[in-house]
Amino acid sequence: MNAVEKAQVIHERLLERYGEQTERPHLEPVAELVSTILSQNTNDRNRDVAFERLRERFPTWEEVRDAPLEEIEEAIRPAGLAQTKAPRIQGALRRLSEEQGLLTLDFLEDLPLGEARDWLTSLDGVGPKTAAIVLLFAFGRPAFPVDTHIHRVSRRLGLIPSKTSREKAHELLEELLPPEIYYTFHLNLIAHGRDTCQARRPDCPPCPLLDLCPYGQEQTAP
Ligand code: SF4
Repeated sequence: MNAVEKAQVIHERLLERYGEQTERPHLEPVAELVSTILSQNTNDRNRDVAFERLRERFPTWEEVRDAPLEEIEEAIRPAGLAQTKAPRIQGALRRLSEEQGLLTLDFLEDLPLGEARDWLTSLDGVGPKTAAIVLLFAFGRPAFPVDTHIHRVSRRLGLIPSKTSREKAHELLEELLPPEIYYTFHLNLIAHGRDTCQARRPDCPPCPLLDLCPYGQEQTAP
């Protein structure tokens, strides 16, 4: 079985276990970008609380852009790292205003994918994962975000070499997987990383991917 076929079989087994993921209602792209910056180094719940507080206190992106920095920090405190994330959010909004004249990311829809990714990653604090989340979730474009779970599980499974960096993993997994499965595969691999293939204690014996997984076979060898 080659790597592409193996990825397909893994996808099918994960589908049996976690099901097809229906696309959640999209945030508009600027909201997706801000929400993704808030999600860095925290969990979904804290991200959502911080995002809601920010939107309640500053209902428009112009207000977020122009508010005193400390007020943004205070609003997003539940997401942690507020002193880092607040200037990143305002910096992104200011860049947009300067370059587009409007607080919109709609221009990314028509840019070639590589240029859209380059623009996003040129923002302070926006790496390949954040860029791919915005492109996939807000625009439905073929980008594959790699979080810590996907990075770990895909290396254990041998989908990518074990020493691959998280940045490089984006490129390799995008080459390996057909774009039509990015959305579901992304969410199902995260579910598997949380549920079964945890960082410290992967539960290999009952894992439906064991026969495809070099790491799991090593762990369960007699
Ligand atoms: S066999 Fe073990 S290491 Fe491999 S994917 Fe399953 S839980 Fe993770």
